[in-house]
Amino acid sequence: MRLYLPEIVRAVEPLVREESIELKGVEKEVPQLVRLDPVRVRVEASEESGLFHVHAEQRTHATFTCSRCLSPFEKDLSGEWTQEFTDRADRADQDEIGFVEGDTLDLTPYIREAVLLELPYAPVCREDCKGLCPVCGVDRNRESCSCNTERIDPRLAVLKELQFPEN
Ligand SMILES: [Zn+2]
Ligand SMILES: [Zn+2]
Repeated sequence: MRLYLPEIVRAVEPLVREESIELKGVEKEVPQLVRLDPVRVRVEASEESGLFHVHAEQRTHATFTCSRCLSPFEKDLSGEWTQEFTDRADRADQDEIGFVEGDTLDLTPYIREAVLLELPYAPVCREDCKGLCPVCGVDRNRESCSCNTERIDPRLAVLKELQFPEN
């Protein structure tokens, strides 16, 4: 998504743009992301004394693999961000102001970054997903099994090893 700086300067009211952006390759970077729909972005841009102010709202829809039961599930993602830009190299270093070389501001890297931040670290199909049985592998959300999956306290496990050494 590109904004033309002179157009922002000329605009009396903040410039509003809406676009649908296809982000390529995000699925390859995020293991549990199966599919990412195009991102619907609405930006508002204005300029004041050589400083460009951009506010973006974005939403999309994604398919993930649940990290507990491995089933696919869908989720809406949305977020917003604000960033300032300048086309003057001497000001760009200050206060995390983005530098724009030339007349065109490319917002796609910022949109992509915001989507990556919205992605859950360990996505789950629902908060109380019971996951797969570690012994027989059934999906415990759908079936129950009679496996003994009682957890051994790690401290007890150490005791057991002490009492019954392998050799
Ligand atoms: Zn699940
Ligand atoms: Zn089982």
